[in-house]
Amino acid sequence: MNRSTSEQLYQEALQHIVGGVNSPSRSFKAVGGGAPVFMKRASGAHFWDEDGNRYIDYLAAFGPVITGFAHPHITAAITKAAENGVLYGTPTALEITLAKMVKEAIPSLDKVRFVNSGTEAVMSTIRVARAFTGRSKIIKFAGCYHGHSDLVLVAAGSGPSTLGIPDSAGIPVSIAHEVITVPFNNLDGLREALNKWGDDVAAVMVEPIVGNFGMVMPKPGFLEGMCKLAHDNGSLVIYDEVITNFRFHYGGAQTYAGLDNHEQIAPDLTAMGKIFGGGLPIGAYGGRKEIMDQVAPLGPAYQAGTMAGNPASISAGIACLEVLQGAGVYEEMERLAIRLTGGLKESADRHGIPLTINRIRGAFSTHFCDHPVTDYEEAQDTDGEAFASFFRHMLNRGINLAASKYEAWFLTTAHTDEDIDATLEAAEDSFRAMKEER
Ligand code: PMP
Repeated sequence: MNRSTSEQLYQEALQHIVGGVNSPSRSFKAVGGGAPVFMKRASGAHFWDEDGNRYIDYLAAFGPVITGFAHPHITAAITKAAENGVLYGTPTALEITLAKMVKEAIPSLDKVRFVNSGTEAVMSTIRVARAFTGRSKIIKFAGCYHGHSDLVLVAAGSGPSTLGIPDSAGIPVSIAHEVITVPFNNLDGLREALNKWGDDVAAVMVEPIVGNFGMVMPKPGFLEGMCKLAHDNGSLVIYDEVITNFRFHYGGAQTYAGLDNHEQIAPDLTAMGKIFGGGLPIGAYGGRKEIMDQVAPLGPAYQAGTMAGNPASISAGIACLEVLQGAGVYEEMERLAIRLTGGLKESADRHGIPLTINRIRGAFSTHFCDHPVTDYEEAQDTDGEAFASFFRHMLNRGINLAASKYEAWFLTTAHTDEDIDATLEAAEDSFRAMKEER
């Protein structure tokens, strides 16, 4: 496959844009480097690059594009918003419509506030939790990603009861000391951390279903236990649902039928983003009324945004949720994902390549290993070189995946059986080539 234009554009981009990309996960650093593909146009489940090559896409722009690209209903909503003026700096009726739609789907939200990204949503939940509890520390779980604000780019210290260490240059150690990172799916670490730091812990924050070291379900009882430990300690529970809201069903991970005891796992605050912006920038956070009423202009916790709740993002979001309300859309994505994961596993087995697949409805992760992946350590302990090789073989056969062994594949409402057949054919060729290279 000729990608010479992408290579040229990459060289040019490097002169002007740091690393040639506007978000590090778009680079190919995690799969051995080189020029990423410069896409020119997208429609449905397909991309065309600057050289005219066509790809079947499973990246879905890291999650938001659940209806496929340029869905006519969403395009019409964006066009109308553009014609009406894209930004007012005043409230609009549209914001109430989307707020009601999100609240109806996720009942733990008494009140919401729209922001522009998942990072902002998470950042704001932490501010509000600190304002409400008068405490400063946060406990989070290893491998969960919560955006790029200072407090959540902190790695674990040497054990569950040690304070965090900065996970990026530019983060003061004093800030990292406000965070404790404990293992996912393991209540002992959380218990230990709360025993040591409990009086200072404003909130325990988690991806209730993990989307950032593969797709990983909480073990039965984990979320219930986590909520109980946090609440007994007077700490709030924050769910980061940026990648899981509206992903598995029309609602959040917290209302997904695969998780029981919805009342016992209800969070105090939820950070959201991605899907309900219909592909335009969006985030939101919300939760219990008395907690959200801490936010300005009602309360003392300040949070603001020039672009927040802009009519274009909100209109696209409403249209996207309307598409997702259609009968059987989640069932169809799941049906295709079952076909795809079944075929991938068969193909990998046929060529003796260890592969663990974690699938939750229409989303799944592929881990090159022969053990289960239930926490971050197990996700790290997988064959990154095998993934990188698979990624490149698939790309060369017209299949676009995320360039990281930790990221998921996402089905959209635009994928068809024909796409699955073509993907399985590419995978069979890729696994065969990988076996021959060994
Ligand atoms: N939280 C989670 C769970 C995410 O997956 C992401 C993005 N991948 C974020 C927060 C940050 O969102 P954004 O990139 O919109 O700032």
